Amino acid sequence: MAHVLLVEDDPGIRTAVVRALHARGHAVQSAGSGLDGLQAMLVGTPGVVVLDLGLPDVDGERLLGMIRAVSQVPVIVATARDDEGLIVRLLDAGADDYVVKPYDPAHLEARIRAVLRRGAAQPDVAIDPPLQVGGLVVDRARRTAAVDGRPIELTRLEFDLLAYLASNPGRVVSRAEVLREVWQRTDAARTVDVHLSWLRRKLGDAPSHPRFIHVHRGVGVLLEDRVEDAPVPHQGPLG
Ligand code: CA
Repeated sequence: MAHVLLVEDDPGIRTAVVRALHARGHAVQSAGSGLDGLQAMLVGTPGVVVLDLGLPDVDGERLLGMIRAVSQVPVIVATARDDEGLIVRLLDAGADDYVVKPYDPAHLEARIRAVLRRGAAQPDVAIDPPLQVGGLVVDRARRTAAVDGRPIELTRLEFDLLAYLASNPGRVVSRAEVLREVWQRTDAARTVDVHLSWLRRKLGDAPSHPRFIHVHRGVGVLLEDRVEDAPVPHQGPLG
């Protein structure tokens, strides 16, 4: 059971979703506008927020930013457009997952369980020591990562992706496996590629001679430190 906050301005959808989630044993609070939703979130400390992006008072993407400024609560966005560019942007802005409207409440409930499972699986310091792959250190307990001692800033999904790869070093991991284990869904393949390319950039991987993330076309991706193969940074003009 979860404490769900539903932010949705359409009264018909709101009633139907509240009823469906109630019937599945969740405690549901709802708000009909962005500002009401933000207030309910601050007062009620929900376990998960379902956020409609098309709200009358505040742009949904802006509201997501406002939520992220004050809280790490899992947010599932409900979008009317099945547009991967938009979805990738929302995930990058801190959404944990998404549903495309009109959605089946049973599907929404599966996404709620998935984000809560991900949250519950947070490792703790004692049983999950930092992972080390060559010069890369991924600390799952503190959710920090560093390359050669230099910390790197990652979004939540980038971190989860990197941590998953770092816990399977030297093994080619398929995109389907990444989707299942990190995204916990099967229908967002392109967002994996996009996150991999962001991750590469943040790790400082050169596209032609990557140091850490090695893509095996049509098979998957492998994390390994091949520092000797990578070009030396800050090389002089004469090489
Ligand atoms: Ca709406």
